[in-house]
Amino acid sequence: MEFEFTEEQSMVQREVRKFIESELTEEDRQHGDSPMTPELAKGLLKRLIPWGYIGPDQPTDPIIEGILFEEMGRVFPSLAGLAFIANGAARYVAQGAHPDVKARLANDLLMGERIGCMGISEPNVGSDPTGVECRAELKGDRYIINGNKIWISNGHIADVAIVICQTDKSKGPLGFQAILVDRKETPFESRDIETVGLAAFPNSELSFHDLEVPAINRLGGWETDNQESLLLKKKESTKGSPFNFNSARVMCASISCGIASKALEEAIEYAKVRKQFGKEIGRFQLVQALLADMAMDIEAARLLTFRARQKMSRGHADKEVSIAKAFATEMGVRVTNKAMEVMGALGLTREAGMEKRMRDARMWVVPDGTSQIQRLIIGKELTGFTATRG
Ligand SMILES: Cc1cc2nc3c(=O)[nH]c(=O)nc-3n(C[C@H](O)[C@H](O)[C@H](O)COP(=O)(O)OP(=O)(O)OC[C@H]3O[C@@H](n4cnc5c(N)ncnc54)[C@H](O)[C@@H]3O)c2cc1C
Repeated sequence: MEFEFTEEQSMVQREVRKFIESELTEEDRQHGDSPMTPELAKGLLKRLIPWGYIGPDQPTDPIIEGILFEEMGRVFPSLAGLAFIANGAARYVAQGAHPDVKARLANDLLMGERIGCMGISEPNVGSDPTGVECRAELKGDRYIINGNKIWISNGHIADVAIVICQTDKSKGPLGFQAILVDRKETPFESRDIETVGLAAFPNSELSFHDLEVPAINRLGGWETDNQESLLLKKKESTKGSPFNFNSARVMCASISCGIASKALEEAIEYAKVRKQFGKEIGRFQLVQALLADMAMDIEAARLLTFRARQKMSRGHADKEVSIAKAFATEMGVRVTNKAMEVMGALGLTREAGMEKRMRDARMWVVPDGTSQIQRLIIGKELTGFTATRG
């Protein structure tokens, strides 16, 4: 296994870091800890197009994709999440929408002119997405949608929502259908929910009451369909979960590595200048132990994450992806917490910004399968058994 970046990967890392640090550090300081607006989000997304976070030219190398999200995680983690979701929704529409819907929306979504979101979770549907209750009833040439989606990334600022609905309860998950709801065409209600971190990455509730959506807004199953979608092919869904979360899981892991790396850098800088007992605190063995533990944790998480990305690009990698997701997101919390410790009281202040890194890091543990769910996946991959209670 190769542990070094290639020349190209190193160059992308250098260039994207230069861009992000010079152009987005101030943006995160001003906007990264307050609610996002659609205008600001679109302006930011457009600036990310040349780097391939969104837009027509996206990296084909899974390691480069990891580098992009890790680097963004160092400086503006909310924007990393926002771009990942906006891009995922854009690609889903570009690959799975009816030609008329695609012609109207795909380009705008890919170019940051409109923002998309994807809704699975509901008030009664979290770790077990197979219980989706939001209903879509086909009546003539319309779907009538009723239900609520919650914790939806980008939801409150989204122009377009891809909503997972149940179309036939008797079929269970096989009755699920992804339906595109265009807010302009069929307005729906949404609200932003305040959370502990990632304030600029909207976490929202969407409500649909007898919402009449054109039947051609169904995603998937059209003649030109070549989608690589959130919903796996129906055949595969009988094996277990009908959803494919792996690319989102490695995204959570990469961003966590970025947040933690920046926290370590800042903790080291502080330890080199802060003096107590007449010496820089970085000269004390116990402070060095904190820094060493942080470095070990980060290195392990980065290697696991890049390995998972590489394996995923070659085929089945559920175990590696879940290991990376659980380890890296929990690592992000441990490392930012230790970085606060190195900074003493200053670490607790808003002005130093380390507490924001910890709050942002904490958010990535939950989405796309909590740490418990990742462990269940790893356990199943190891034993072949689905875990039971007794
Ligand atoms: C930042 C963020 C972004 C998100 N973005 C989206 C989005 O864009 N779209 C979307 O649809 N959803 C999104 N979500 C929702 C996310 O997918 C859910 O929060 C997650 O799946 C967990 O569901 P829950 O919060 O309802 O927790 P629950 O499922 O209610 O879990 C509560 C606790 O019980 C544990 N638990 C549950 N089942 C088991 C089990 N079988 N064994 C052991 N422990 C178990 C969990 O690990 C957790 O500790 C997002 C969430 C966050 C935090």
